Amino acid sequence: MDIITGNVGWIEVICGPMFSGKSEELIRRLRRSMIARKRVEVFKPIIDDRYSALEIVSHGDLRMTSQVVNNAGEIMDQLDWRSEVVGIDEANFMGPQLVDVAQRLADSGKQVIVAGLDTDYLGRPFPPIPELLAYAESITKTLAICVRCGNPAKHTQRLRGSEDLIVVGAAELYEPRCRRCFEPGIPKQAEMDFVKARQAQKTDHREESRPRIHTGIRGTEEEV
Ligand SMILES: [Zn+2]
Repeated sequence: MDIITGNVGWIEVICGPMFSGKSEELIRRLRRSMIARKRVEVFKPIIDDRYSALEIVSHGDLRMTSQVVNNAGEIMDQLDWRSEVVGIDEANFMGPQLVDVAQRLADSGKQVIVAGLDTDYLGRPFPPIPELLAYAESITKTLAICVRCGNPAKHTQRLRGSEDLIVVGAAELYEPRCRRCFEPGIPKQAEMDFVKARQAQKTDHREESRPRIHTGIRGTEEEV
């Protein structure tokens, strides 16, 4: 959906599971704003270094230069206040202040476009996206395709690894699944395969680059 904003600020949220084209949609909207000669800035959290440190990158390899912040509060410090459009990718890693930051930017007349996961690996609402949806003028929910059955997929299935809320990775760690095929948590068979693969790797003496595990963004109350 394309939005005609007039001259007031507002909040757009693009949410859905991994591999549903959120970053692609964010980049598409930001590019349109650039074509319209608006001043655009893009932020992403430092935790997301899957593809590029200084760009937001979609799984389909669209790219856009971005600024990296530790949390949403730093957006206020780094922002050029002449910017008219502010894009925020991987918003679910930005921390709870993002709600307040997005509200303040929109209240000051800026168009804020936020993309992020709306549910975690257990299928639960993933803060701060649910609260942002309540404040947003526009919501786009993107669906992926279930790799098991081909139906529209709204879940991010974690295939292996830890039970931390945040484990950054791409295709080797996650896949999109529909409501019927989704298994909250980590499928037991896949976990066993992963352990076997790791043991095989150890005997190979090969360095393992993934998965990289990040913790500490959310409090323990978020954990199961
Ligand atoms: Zn399915």
